[in-house]
Amino acid sequence: MTRVQLQSVGKRYPARGRNGTEVIAVDDVSIDIASGEIHAVIGFSGAGKSTLLRLVNGLERATAGHILVDGEDVTALPESKLRVVRSKIGMIFQQFNLFHSKTVAKNVEYPLVVAGTPRPEREARVAELLSFVGLADYGQSHIEQLSGGQKQRVGIARALATNPGLLLADEATSALDPDTSREVLQLLQRVNRELGITILLITHEMDVVREIAQRVTVMAGGRAVEHGDVFEVFSNPQNETTRSFVATALPSAPSTEHLRALREKHRGKLVSMTFRDGSVDQPIVFQTLADRGVGVNIVYGGISEVGGRTFGKLTLELIGDDLQVEHAIAALGQQTELEVLA
Ligand code: ADP
Repeated sequence: MTRVQLQSVGKRYPARGRNGTEVIAVDDVSIDIASGEIHAVIGFSGAGKSTLLRLVNGLERATAGHILVDGEDVTALPESKLRVVRSKIGMIFQQFNLFHSKTVAKNVEYPLVVAGTPRPEREARVAELLSFVGLADYGQSHIEQLSGGQKQRVGIARALATNPGLLLADEATSALDPDTSREVLQLLQRVNRELGITILLITHEMDVVREIAQRVTVMAGGRAVEHGDVFEVFSNPQNETTRSFVATALPSAPSTEHLRALREKHRGKLVSMTFRDGSVDQPIVFQTLADRGVGVNIVYGGISEVGGRTFGKLTLELIGDDLQVEHAIAALGQQTELEVLA
């Protein structure tokens, strides 16, 4: 298990060409990734995520700040010592980066050959890794015979070969269909839980974060604009970038446009109710409405899981005479997070 501490990390690329300007790819980013944690960095394209990963595994040098991997400052290490740190870091990629001319077993074995592991030990380790990723019978297959999901399993097996304490995942599921993506994420969860490996993953997909990460950093324009527990960050986003990610994956209140369309069909009072990890006792809500003679239609939204906890918003149409509806809203307002949609 590995802890990674980024302390005010920055990366500037010098201006290129005559009219080029300097690029600040990563700007004053501080993140503390605990041993054994799955930490996601989410952001749109160009936010600085891949640069951040390359700084952590020492493929590029930070131009400001410090990066400690298990207490060792990789920003200060000479290349020879960096190699030792890198051997304790596995990495997987969106396009898998496998050797197409080699068999599955040879791909997985490769880091062990580089590390000088004796052959019998290598063979045993490859068999163990292939079995762990569910490809025990595929050792002699060629890469092009495999599906995308299988290729990423090979990538994971190869990344684990040298027993790293940290796995870096660069958009590891972005090239996969949703079902395959889910399977690979489940495998990463096993890597984390069963092998105790810390995972730092970067993604532009909210679903990836929602499904496996415990903590998240949201990046925009090179900066870490929001970070913390996945549920806390996404159930109460403070930053515009975070909000737009939430909107891509989580049920929310209707947009102004949606609301207009809903009003065409629903003449009753529209309210939006927020569900936050057991914060709403649904039987009590429905009883409260029934007691006041108010009917209810669920007209929009949904409830989902974030970091293993429930979150969502439902838009309800309340039907009854004005006074009854008003009383019902007042009563519900005591029990739940309720917003009357204007
Ligand atoms: P992301 O992974 O979030 O898409 P990147 O880390 O790839 O973002 O890029 C962040 C910014 O840094 C972008 O503006 C990109 O053009 C710039 N950048 C990345 N690598 C280099 C480089 N080697 N030289 C110059 N600019 C770079």
